[in-house]
Amino acid sequence: MHGKRLIVMKFGGTSVGNAERFRQCATIVGNAAKHDRIVVVVSAMAGVTDLIFKTIEAARHGDASATQAHLQKFASVHRELALSLFGNQRLTAANNYIAGVIAQLQNACHALTALRSDISAQTSDSLVALGERISAWALAGYLQQMGTQAEFVRAENVIVTDSNFGNATPDIEATRNQCKQSLFPLLERGIVPVVAGYSGADSQGKSTTLGRGGSDYSATIIGAAAVADEVWIWTDVDGVLTADPRICPEAATLPEISFAEAIELAYYGAKVIHPKAAYPATEAGFPVWIKNSFRPEVAGTKITHDARPANSPVKSVTSVKDATLISLFTRRDVHPVELWGRLFLRLGQEQIEVLFATQSSPEHALGLVLRKADSARVLQLIQSIFRIELAQGVLLPPEVNNKIAVVAVLGESMKGTCGILGRVFSAVARCDESVIAVAQGASELSICFAVSSAHSAEVVRAVHDEFCQPAGANIPVCLRPSVSIAGAQ
Ligand code: ASP
Ligand code: MG
Repeated sequence: MHGKRLIVMKFGGTSVGNAERFRQCATIVGNAAKHDRIVVVVSAMAGVTDLIFKTIEAARHGDASATQAHLQKFASVHRELALSLFGNQRLTAANNYIAGVIAQLQNACHALTALRSDISAQTSDSLVALGERISAWALAGYLQQMGTQAEFVRAENVIVTDSNFGNATPDIEATRNQCKQSLFPLLERGIVPVVAGYSGADSQGKSTTLGRGGSDYSATIIGAAAVADEVWIWTDVDGVLTADPRICPEAATLPEISFAEAIELAYYGAKVIHPKAAYPATEAGFPVWIKNSFRPEVAGTKITHDARPANSPVKSVTSVKDATLISLFTRRDVHPVELWGRLFLRLGQEQIEVLFATQSSPEHALGLVLRKADSARVLQLIQSIFRIELAQGVLLPPEVNNKIAVVAVLGESMKGTCGILGRVFSAVARCDESVIAVAQGASELSICFAVSSAHSAEVVRAVHDEFCQPAGANIPVCLRPSVSIAGAQ
């Protein structure tokens, strides 16, 4: 039996968005289970995790009627699902199961409303993954009903994490031991384990979550721990695209990308996989496929260690629409690096992501490009860290530009290829746009620049047109092996 491949399949929120989608997942799993050993990981139904967070928020603020309305919505979404999926006998069991989960959420909300208390990260983690619990339970039940041997497995019995509630880190070795007990015996008997995504438990058995969007991470953690051959992420797009199709209708699906490219893409706005999900896969060495559960016949995108180069050195053009540029200038007679050091230390402690930064000593200037949602917080931090320097005029008041977007041009084989920057910025110039800030790291994996947000879509289209035309339509570029500067390592 071990001649069979072991594949972990994760279904995202839209892939289990309603009863019809559940049926489709069951067909995919049922077919795959005929020739491979399958472990299934399931997200909550689309929108359910947000709904749980809203419910908790309402309860915490003592808003009993909003809490009740959210709870009712939670109940009706799942009851409707059960009614549509299950025949009589199973329907009773499903309704009982759903009622149990609702009671758990309701009791916790009542306690919060009564106490008007803040909720601990630990309590929150025991509630926010309840959507996954129901959807995994329901998919297992539906697979059984359709004649595929399957069993629901609680995430707490599979994934072992530290106790960093809300954003836990897995312990792959401990998870491997858990898999030996909770997954392997089922697989040996030809049963498909259906595991709830997004969560796990710490060494004391307390529920933890892996961070929002964490079900992808669940899948690759289980893949690494159970030594899977492949992980397949089922989603609602054909794979990883050369651009956002809403901006570039002619965007094409990439057959292969590397993990480094996938992480970079996720960081700069493309919905690929959760960036953290790439790490267990790179370490264990298995490929991850992105596939469309709405069109399972399409091959999808394979994410591997050494992806084949594409037709163009630029694989994808993405953008982060809502960004802010904060520019800081110091007086000419101070050494600015010490100031920037203090700032970056704090940004790190506060876990604020800097999309990119530019620093030029002759100008005594630092440009920080951030997500707009973080800008108010960062400005407050600047005021507090540099209170004295601002008062003394050593540091000038920060300049803020809230109307920018970041465009990222990505591809591993841009490294050592000359002429890319020239072509990127010629394309921007054709849009009559000026580049507000720019950065390219030594890895040459991406070129990021800021343009006015009002015209960013146009810029993305122009750069995409320049590089991501169908095969053969590219302007030839000169290829050179990458060189490293002596002493620079
Ligand atoms: N349901 C969780 C979320 O929305 C996890 C996931 O879907 O990946 O964050
Ligand atoms: Mg997701």
